[in-house]
Amino acid sequence: MSSRLLSAPGLWSPWHMAALNLVWPAHCAACDSPLDANLAQSRFCHDCSASLSPITSPFCAICCEPFTGAIADDFTCPNCMGQPQHYAFAVAAFMSRGPIRAAIHHFKYGRRIALRLPLASLLLNALNDPRIAARKDWILVPVPLHPRRLREREFNQSAELANSLSSLSGLPVVNALRRLRYTSTQAALRREDRLLNLKSAFDLRWRAARHTTGRPILLIDDVLTTGSTANACAAILKHKGAAQTVAVLTVARG
Ligand SMILES: [Zn+2]
Ligand SMILES: [Zn+2]
Repeated sequence: MSSRLLSAPGLWSPWHMAALNLVWPAHCAACDSPLDANLAQSRFCHDCSASLSPITSPFCAICCEPFTGAIADDFTCPNCMGQPQHYAFAVAAFMSRGPIRAAIHHFKYGRRIALRLPLASLLLNALNDPRIAARKDWILVPVPLHPRRLREREFNQSAELANSLSSLSGLPVVNALRRLRYTSTQAALRREDRLLNLKSAFDLRWRAARHTTGRPILLIDDVLTTGSTANACAAILKHKGAAQTVAVLTVARG
């Protein structure tokens, strides 16, 4: 197997956990205040923990967009009704605001790569979503960065999250996708422009199909905003990679 494509999974042994304690940031992932000893394996200080925004029901059954109102049953938001997604569903642990937004910002733009562990542990919790927990044979595929963006940022935050989640969960990582075009920063674009910007931005890596064919795939990214990046990646994984199904797992929902 190509080592470039496939990262070996590894479960955390007691030895690994001891090593993790050494590298686990002893500071809050959001505000950088020191964590006291009994919070040493936590990610956020008391104040930041208290202001987290977990995504709770009701939310769109496909794109995870929360809905404020009294809806008891599953519902699909107008965006997903109007434009069917190539992924089956998306799971995001938290809304992208407050401490979560700050932690992702420090990780991604402040080059605090050690934050991959606390952020991946939030993804580990999100694996308990019943739709994900229903099966154990997922493979993790990170959203790729263009090589030029990778040189600028020095690491691909999605790949770091996928590799850390693999270490915590034992699920294998396949670097199945590559980014063909250096797209302008998505955050600055309107929804329609994002879709255009992403058209043909991704492709399947050479020989990746043998790892993705017939497999259920969890696409890993830091934030899901409009879902257009996830949708473009899922289209490639399903149509060129012959994946059985694609679901999306992110730390936050923008
Ligand atoms: Zn804090
Ligand atoms: Zn939706």
